[in-house]
Amino acid sequence: MLKPIYAISRIAEILNADAKLVDEQSVIEYLVIDSRSVLVPENSLFFALSSHRDGHEFIKDAYSKDIRNFVITDEKYFNKYSNCNFLLVGDVLKALQKLAIYHRNQFDLKTIGITGSNGKTIVKEWLYQLLITDFNIVRSPKSYNSKIGVPLSVWQIDAEDTLGIFEAGISAVNEMDLLAEIIQPQIGILTNIGEAHAEGFSSKREKLIEKLKLFKDTELFIYSPDYVSEINFKELPGKKQFSWSSKQGADLRIIAVEPIEGNCYLRAIYQDREIECMLPFKDKASIENGMICWATLLALGYAPDQADLRLEKLSHVSMRLELKNGINQCSIIDDSYSADISSLAIALDFLNQQNQHPKKTVILSELFETGKDDLDLYTEIADLLSQKKVNRLIGIGPHIANYATLFKFETQFFNDTNAFIEAFPGLHFNHETILVKGARRFEFGRISKLLTQKIHDTVLEIDLNAMVGNLQFYRSKIKPGVKIMAMVKAFSYGSGSFEIANLLQFHKVDYLAVAYADEGIALRKAGITLPIMVMSPEESAFEAIIKHNLEPEIYSLEILNSFLNALSDYDFNYPIHIKIDSGMHRLGFDNAEIESLSILLKNNQRLKVQSIFSHLVASGEAEHDGFTQHQIEKFKVISTKLINVLSYKPLLHIANTSGISRWADGQMDMVRLGIGLYGFDAALQNNRGLQTVMVLKTTVTQVKILDAGETVGYSRRGVMPKGGKIATVKIGYADGYSRAFGNGVGKMLINGQLVPTIGSICMDMTMLDITEIDVKAGDEAIVFNQQHTIMQLADDINTIPYEILTNISQRVKRIYFYE
Ligand SMILES: *Cc1c(COP(=O)(O)O)cnc(C)c1O
Repeated sequence: MLKPIYAISRIAEILNADAKLVDEQSVIEYLVIDSRSVLVPENSLFFALSSHRDGHEFIKDAYSKDIRNFVITDEKYFNKYSNCNFLLVGDVLKALQKLAIYHRNQFDLKTIGITGSNGKTIVKEWLYQLLITDFNIVRSPKSYNSKIGVPLSVWQIDAEDTLGIFEAGISAVNEMDLLAEIIQPQIGILTNIGEAHAEGFSSKREKLIEKLKLFKDTELFIYSPDYVSEINFKELPGKKQFSWSSKQGADLRIIAVEPIEGNCYLRAIYQDREIECMLPFKDKASIENGMICWATLLALGYAPDQADLRLEKLSHVSMRLELKNGINQCSIIDDSYSADISSLAIALDFLNQQNQHPKKTVILSELFETGKDDLDLYTEIADLLSQKKVNRLIGIGPHIANYATLFKFETQFFNDTNAFIEAFPGLHFNHETILVKGARRFEFGRISKLLTQKIHDTVLEIDLNAMVGNLQFYRSKIKPGVKIMAMVKAFSYGSGSFEIANLLQFHKVDYLAVAYADEGIALRKAGITLPIMVMSPEESAFEAIIKHNLEPEIYSLEILNSFLNALSDYDFNYPIHIKIDSGMHRLGFDNAEIESLSILLKNNQRLKVQSIFSHLVASGEAEHDGFTQHQIEKFKVISTKLINVLSYKPLLHIANTSGISRWADGQMDMVRLGIGLYGFDAALQNNRGLQTVMVLKTTVTQVKILDAGETVGYSRRGVMPKGGKIATVKIGYADGYSRAFGNGVGKMLINGQLVPTIGSICMDMTMLDITEIDVKAGDEAIVFNQQHTIMQLADDINTIPYEILTNISQRVKRIYFYE
């Protein structure tokens, strides 16, 4: 055992906790903060951390997963679970941090600490790639850099490690001291300081000073003077400093940056002579991150030619899992980020969350974990795969087959990736979810290529973490106990169907709503068990609605009567939702019809009114606040009439996204969250607080030079009096890029620059005026992203983000990312 052995009684002492122990010898190896991700329950300690919800609510779930050790603040659990160990503390988060500090102090480990606005994770991963031949490295998993992520990262340190690389991220003042105490870096790297995330700080200087606190006790501080101009040189941390910049006086003075064919050549002056290196990247962010790594290698004492040799072998880091459509109706989860057991557990959780296929296959390479023998490692992996209900394992590598008997389900083994690829035509993959996870050297990219459908070069990327972030944002705005109905109509506002519903189900929304029955049926077939409201239930679909346990919105007496007819003699308490028209004048009962509706509902055993609801017409617009108030009042009056005839109380709801943000009074029992999930809210200035969920990208197919007076596209609408240069990209109105964007109205981003359309938008293609910039065939063109936003596109053609999103046609492939 390379980690100190922590018995639960020892941890109780470290935390100074009031303990109730039934098994003092219980050994703790894993710290768990999410009851859904449990690796080895017997050796896990669950921290009941509260964020939007009280962490104690998850104790039950953790208990059901066989966890028996808990850190809590509420002693009533002592008696509830009598066979568990409980540590009672004043603050669960502080306890987690304290334990991490204690653990850190057991090791005299050389450590690199990284902070900055961008690039932390990439720099950390690249330094790992650059230094792994010389050290046993322990590093933050993924981008674990918060006040929770940092303690969990540091907890991984064991006696074999010779170097730690940890990142730290903060969002407000007075946060860094604690992270510095947990990480205790001897070497500090400041990546950069951007304008982003400035909310928690009063100025850029304040932000910088806070970030630099990570480095206050470092021996060596690596930075660019370009990012620290707000402070005096004497205020810089570190006993020694190493600077990089294109300006005079830097230790590494960059004198040339030349992108050539996908690579980038850097030249610099270092110790009075010219040196160079090659980076296998050409984008701006990678070049900067590469310079930071270059500076770090030199500052650590590597010779320039050594540094060059290592840098040119850097490989791309994708920190996210990708979910894509595969061959034969498979869903493919591609994860080649890292191949250790904790990232495997995260990937398996994601696999488990996507229920669209009953069968789950994992294609796994051998893993390399320091400090574990193979038998222990594969026993743990086999347990994990069983626990996550994997049906089939395809193991790749020379040794994994030796442990075949540990896996109690279908298995196949191949000596290497080539052997798998040769056998591929005879292997059957059909209607299953496949996780592809391999260590870098196994080149599993080749496998995921075989398994995925060919991707047409226009893709809509959906960031599932951002969507969860937006869900949490609204959770924090609603009062405790208020339920959430997530609106997933129209393919989740264009973003997808079961992929999104599975995510929302996993993150425990209470209800889903779709527009039509067939959308609901598709979700049921993909394993969605949440209740689903259907807003426009066609009569012809009633039978299917009942068969799939979908809940119709009832908006008129006619539809109510015909639904009653469709129910069989055996149906009792069938859930329905009553829609009230409080002013939208679209669908719903008017005040005048309530009388007749009441008569039908009173004592009706066949139906159960699950909810009564109405819809606000202008919840986000201040000039209509009087009307919104009137709608809320009217809804309350009408719903009260109905409730009076029922012998139970249905859920009441009226607020959509901007209703949640602006009308606390409208939250009632449930809210209907739509566009906010996807990153927009008319009630928030610039959607502040929300994250960008979707990015639409396409590709340049051809570049042409035009002479003066030539024209572009149909009807010669694109004119170039002075001539110029155009690029044709693979997106047109059939993909959802409206014709209204033609003739310069719309713009796209290529290589970081905005360029206008020229001529009319065609069915499958669009031409862009790129006279001013450098573009070649194959370059990426961004239709919208964080920087060039959907809001901007909507403004350009006088519409609303809803329409831009839902117009993106189904032929545009969706790729989902999950960290
Ligand atoms: C679409 C819809 C919503 C969601 O509205 P957002 O503005 O997207 O939040 C809520 N209620 C009903 C009835 C809807 O049709």
